[in-house]
Amino acid sequence: MQKFNPEQALCEIRREFGEHGGVTPSVSRSATFTVMEPHTMPEIFEGTRSPDRGGCYLYSRHFNPTRIVLSRYLAAMEGTEFALCTASGMAAISCTLLQLCKAGDHIVSSNIVYGGTHALLRDLLPEMGVTTTFVDPADTEAFEAAIRPETRVIYTESVGNPTLRAADIPALSALARDRGIRLVVDNTFAPMILSPARLGADVVVYSMTKFISGGSDMIAGAICASKEFLNRLMDLHTGRLMLLGPTMDPRIAFDLIQRLPHLGIRMREHSRRALAVATRLKALGVKVNYPGLPDHPQHDLFSAMLNEGYGYGGILTIDCGTRERAEKLMAILQNEERFGLMAVSLGYFDTLMSCSGSSTSSEISSEEQAEMGLSPGLIRLSIGYTGGLDDRLAQIERAVKALGTTAGE
Ligand SMILES: *Cc1c(COP(=O)(O)O)cnc(C)c1O
Repeated sequence: MQKFNPEQALCEIRREFGEHGGVTPSVSRSATFTVMEPHTMPEIFEGTRSPDRGGCYLYSRHFNPTRIVLSRYLAAMEGTEFALCTASGMAAISCTLLQLCKAGDHIVSSNIVYGGTHALLRDLLPEMGVTTTFVDPADTEAFEAAIRPETRVIYTESVGNPTLRAADIPALSALARDRGIRLVVDNTFAPMILSPARLGADVVVYSMTKFISGGSDMIAGAICASKEFLNRLMDLHTGRLMLLGPTMDPRIAFDLIQRLPHLGIRMREHSRRALAVATRLKALGVKVNYPGLPDHPQHDLFSAMLNEGYGYGGILTIDCGTRERAEKLMAILQNEERFGLMAVSLGYFDTLMSCSGSSTSSEISSEEQAEMGLSPGLIRLSIGYTGGLDDRLAQIERAVKALGTTAGE
């Protein structure tokens, strides 16, 4: 496969200028759009006129000029035909799955997925007649064994939340293709680092709330795929995105357009620092899990799949054994060392830390958590890039040593 450079791809597409030659695009906040001739409106409804056929807009839940700019940029970055922007990552995931599956259909999913996605698959979709079998994302044969005649989707995160197990996307893609099934990959943890569509995924979904935003100040999502699939999502009669309605506001689209140009720089720095922190923690004897460490079980697979130059991502986990020790370490890191903030989510410029088992993965039962290798003492750290790296390393070293001297070691 040809090497892919998402930043280069972003630079090569047509840049959108604003009114009056603005270096930024203009924000089109209008909910509805004027047509100059009465016959134009029926043509839009018939589908013979659209933003890319005659430049006609109708109504902003359908298409919006600012959102389309962001969609074009995302599609270039992912190497897909097009993209649609949604109000949240969950909107992107739920609309995609509801579009691909109807009552009686079946999904084979990684068992290491975001808590909300797990709840959607295990609790909500069965109420609509869509069932899911969960398997270890690193075990391609387990996906194959779980496929039934009614399986429509293979679902995985490129880097599983929170245990950071990677799926073999090219192998899953070959399997899906062979069986006529769609492969959907959530790439929230690894924008620019991995390009799942280039590795064979049919649909790539994002929570742009995380790294792509980078500011922890908005909720947003995206679906990157073929025009054929995205047109189905926007169909006036059955389009799940069109009719369930979780569209992105154009003001949010504008904010994200302004952040994509420095996403590459940010991802590189998140990765550089996460690797430094992981290396230091390992030297201190802490149980640390990071795909960039050679002892990570899928380090080689990860290395074979990634786009060069962006590192292995900003997320690492440490296992403190018990929830009490995890909470103690986070308290030291936040309140004594000012290393980071105890908060869910990820991809912020400051370090965020949470104890996954009792927070973002608490929808998953303790038995299932044990099965997926999620220890109750697991802290997920999203490593930020504020402050000096040497100072940050000194802070985490002091915190680990302070924890070591407290009871319960
Ligand atoms: C946060 C997250 C989501 C959900 O995204 P929202 O923007 O909060 O709806 C989905 N998948 C992963 C991997 C996430 O981290």
